[in-house]
Amino acid sequence: MHDHTADLTQYEWPTCTACRKPLWENEYERQICRPCEDKTRVRLQELPGLFAQLDTTAALMRGASGGGAPTSGSKTPPIPPRLEVLNLVAAGGMATRLRDIEDAWRNRLGWTVAPWRGSPRQAVPEHVRFLLNNLPWAADAYDSVAQDVEDIRRLHAECAAAVANERKPGRVKTGLCPVRVDGQLCRAQLTAVATNHRIRCGTCGTEWGDLGAWRELRQQQDAVLAEAAGVAA
Ligand SMILES: [Zn+2]
Ligand SMILES: [Zn+2]
Repeated sequence: MHDHTADLTQYEWPTCTACRKPLWENEYERQICRPCEDKTRVRLQELPGLFAQLDTTAALMRGASGGGAPTSGSKTPPIPPRLEVLNLVAAGGMATRLRDIEDAWRNRLGWTVAPWRGSPRQAVPEHVRFLLNNLPWAADAYDSVAQDVEDIRRLHAECAAAVANERKPGRVKTGLCPVRVDGQLCRAQLTAVATNHRIRCGTCGTEWGDLGAWRELRQQQDAVLAEAAGVAA
């Protein structure tokens, strides 16, 4: 019974069309394995929340455009518009990508195309509801589901990355660089973020790595100010 190696190598055990792992016996006739279906379900469930977070960001960006950067200083460039966010929340973004999947599923099911569901903000939860309701069918019987599983994975990853970037606390200014380079004060604007104690001058490359170094930095900055005051007096 275990000697039919030739037969065994020729026999192809059915695999998940998404992750290519062998299907379990009780999954034998499915298109994707249960873990792939479960991951896709969780991603779909999270998409409306991610969209809502990004949509707010986009609105803020639109409100800020033309107003210039919130930080002053002639050398500070304006904050670039977050195109990756706009590309997700605007028409043609997440809502359109989900609608395309819904339409493909409807087409295969012999149903009419998805009804008009309004703005992306209105449409995203509706498309997600449809896809969640019909995911068991697709996992079971839709032979092109692997491509949609991948699209949903990528869409979710793009949103998660955009939201993660958004959560980074803003930079705060920490005075001008007091380092002398070839006898000239660097005077670049130094900045720090709340999550990291490292301050690095983007112009001369000097680093202050911890709070002890911050104290030294402050002393150096005070010395520069005192010297400037002495020159002016
Ligand atoms: Zn799988
Ligand atoms: Zn510097």
